[in-house]
Amino acid sequence: MGSALKHLDPVMLHFFENCVNCGLCEVNCPYTAAGEEYGPVEKAELLRKLYRAQVQILPRIFPWLFGAGPPKTKEEVDEWVEKAYRCTNCGLCYVTCPFGIHSGEMIKVLRGYLARVGRVPTLLKAMIDAEASNTLLENKGLKEIWSNMLDKLREEGVEFNKKNAKYLYVTSLAEAMMTPGSVIGAVKLFKKLGIDWTMSDQPLSMRAPIGSLAGDDEATRVVARRIYDYIKDMNPEYIVLSDGGYPYTFFRFDLPRIIGEKPSFKVVHIVELVEEALHEGKIKFKTTSESVTWHSPCKMGRFGGLIEEPVKVLSQVSSGFVKLGSHGIFNKCCGGGSSIACIVPPTQEMMEKILGMSLQLTASEKSFLDKLYKDMLVAGKAKVDEIKETGASTVVTACVGCMHTIGMTTKAYGVNVKLKMLSEFLAENLE
Ligand code: SF4
Ligand code: SF4
Repeated sequence: MGSALKHLDPVMLHFFENCVNCGLCEVNCPYTAAGEEYGPVEKAELLRKLYRAQVQILPRIFPWLFGAGPPKTKEEVDEWVEKAYRCTNCGLCYVTCPFGIHSGEMIKVLRGYLARVGRVPTLLKAMIDAEASNTLLENKGLKEIWSNMLDKLREEGVEFNKKNAKYLYVTSLAEAMMTPGSVIGAVKLFKKLGIDWTMSDQPLSMRAPIGSLAGDDEATRVVARRIYDYIKDMNPEYIVLSDGGYPYTFFRFDLPRIIGEKPSFKVVHIVELVEEALHEGKIKFKTTSESVTWHSPCKMGRFGGLIEEPVKVLSQVSSGFVKLGSHGIFNKCCGGGSSIACIVPPTQEMMEKILGMSLQLTASEKSFLDKLYKDMLVAGKAKVDEIKETGASTVVTACVGCMHTIGMTTKAYGVNVKLKMLSEFLAENLE
């Protein structure tokens, strides 16, 4: 419990103390649709229970009177895990709360507590451990994925590990595995932009440190340090990402805090480079009449402020571009962020095939994952509905997790759309 306390800085103290239970965040959380017990306040209450038992005098003395303290039984721990894994850290609660309380951040700390009592879903734990011990490529399936990607990159003439290039492209094993077109598309765009750039010939991580999704601070620190040391050695002015999911906020906002240094490089998303080049007339696209919409990943959009840049670029490429109903700061979440889409049964089956192994799950974890999948489909329905309303035939996004989630949810609801990562879509339409 002590480690949860180390996160109780002035911001977390505000989150802890100042909720007035107005309920405004509840209606906006994608998981409230799956059950009122999964609303932001209900989930954050679990962390509040831990804090109350530590920092408030009366709850410390009489925890049973104040609902304070950790869970006592296995059933209670199960319930805490269930709630902690009904949050995508999308920030909709944060932007809709009149007091700016980010329940998602509290739930992240709660996951950290659960990690310390050994409750991280099996697949997530396996990926965290392999990433932290730098043994991902010891797996034959993952090695093959990366080596196929390297072959394609060599065909494009990529110069790897070039020190002092202005831009360092940071991709990941997950991007190579789930959305390889995004990586190749980014490379084609860099070439067209004529910039001085490079990338690593080794995956630096599974995505960004995957331990950060489970609140595993130690694994996160180890992986963050390894990535940071590589970046420092390459000495770029900018790191560029084509994945605008949690790697974007991780590199831009979390990395300096974790490594305790102010990086000498800036973090940009590839859409920023393209938008600037378009504005200066340095890049041109063919115009397609294909009806396209944009799903803004919560991390690069709501948190990173990159809301209009993708729209400007996509409007140039598609004469049939149409915004989603919730476009903007309140953009609806896909429902699968913060590791949820990576652990649900369809993903697990896919990963077992790639890894060439079968994960040994208990009956209770199987039923936890089955229910999580059902709830994820419910949480993602609002996004599917608004996609359907646009009538678009292609949904463009820029997050490996959003792509995978929307792939699952649109399929489940019988909505037939093509899904494309932004860099892939733009590269296909380069003039
Ligand atoms: S971050 Fe998103 S999913 Fe998590 S509690 Fe807030 S609104 Fe719900
Ligand atoms: S919107 Fe803010 S104050 Fe209102 S219930 Fe949610 S966290 Fe509490």
